[in-house]
Amino acid sequence: MVVRLALERLPEFTCKAVEGIAFVARPLPKAAKALVNSTTPDLIIVSAAQGFASEEDLDVKFTVFEGENSEQRAKDKLAADLRVWPETIQAIVHEAAHCATYLIDSVTEGTTQRQAWEAGAVAAAREIVESTRLKGGLLKEWNRVNESFEDADLGGEYDETRLQDSSIEPPGGFFTNYGGHSPEEDIAETASWLAFLPFHKEFKLADIETLDIGFYPDLRPAYPSNTACEQLSATDTVTIPGGLAAVFTKMNFLVDLGLVTEDDFRSCIGTGKIGLQRAGSETGFEVFGGADRRIINEYKTGFTMLRKEDSVWIAGKNSITREGKEYPAILELSLRIEDDGYPRGLYEIVACKAFLNPTVERLLPDADASMHLWVQGVPSNSFCAFTALVLVTRARRGLLEGAVVLQRLIKLSVPPVPEKPDPPVIYTFVVR
Ligand SMILES: [Zn+2]
Repeated sequence: MVVRLALERLPEFTCKAVEGIAFVARPLPKAAKALVNSTTPDLIIVSAAQGFASEEDLDVKFTVFEGENSEQRAKDKLAADLRVWPETIQAIVHEAAHCATYLIDSVTEGTTQRQAWEAGAVAAAREIVESTRLKGGLLKEWNRVNESFEDADLGGEYDETRLQDSSIEPPGGFFTNYGGHSPEEDIAETASWLAFLPFHKEFKLADIETLDIGFYPDLRPAYPSNTACEQLSATDTVTIPGGLAAVFTKMNFLVDLGLVTEDDFRSCIGTGKIGLQRAGSETGFEVFGGADRRIINEYKTGFTMLRKEDSVWIAGKNSITREGKEYPAILELSLRIEDDGYPRGLYEIVACKAFLNPTVERLLPDADASMHLWVQGVPSNSFCAFTALVLVTRARRGLLEGAVVLQRLIKLSVPPVPEKPDPPVIYTFVVR
């Protein structure tokens, strides 16, 4: 029963990565509730030792109390004892994410032996690696994404002393405290909490058919919740608030990988208040001027995306009318890529591209990103981004999504004029 409830929560790909679950009646190393070994990366081992998921623990009993508040005390004890159910389910879902990570690793330059899995599972992993361009390895890319936030003071460093304790407030940039342990645990924690939370919202005593406690069917196990989803669903801005950008981007990365379902992701972030979360919208740039979130211009027609050796170049074409005359306009964004991959995570624009013909040189030699608007014949309407943050949240075959927060720009008139929009101008982009 507990295994069935856990398996029901797994996304299709993660399920393929798990070929066995074994309960062992002795404590596991480091008092772990469950684990996956790199030697048997398709097998989840769950501790069924006394005090965790033993048959006795899972067979929760009603305790009779006497004296004052006896009924409330009995109810509280039952809710506390029931906690073994969500704990076991979450432990299995967490380890399943490790199996999925190993499976992806086995088809890249990683060290995991792919013989552990059936051909169908390996083929599914290859498709994921192809569509997300992760030949250089998932953990390497995950680490790079985390560092991009760390460099901008919007995330933290991995630290292997962090404990698996959901009552500890997560450090910045991580979904849970233990997520800050290592890239492997960051993936497993984020994926498992997202899969587990919708289940946990509904889970009650009556769902455990194997228990014969017929009363209090609506009683829910005492279990900590997670704050990241609460904060995200309360967000009402076009871009993601800085403190949540890393977590939001990692969640999206896991959706691209198939380690989190779209449904579970949406269940976490709520119903469509974040501007970036616009699935189904057209390809192109949208420009939001100021706090009123009004779209002031769009660059959607003549939309192009080019991959160059070390960068991805996105351009949207439009025209601007001045004194009854139309002038062609091009908005361009260039982002540095590694290992022939996709752009992903956070980029800082820290210098204006040279005031040359912008169609000649896309990216400065040392720059990670650049952006400019070129209005042919109207230099006072053309600009080059001088200080900006670029966030790329989705990056897989057929979908690139993100936002640019433009803080300082230089108007390309003669002489050039620096400008500081307040509040910053926001560009969102979707490439399909
Ligand atoms: Zn783990």
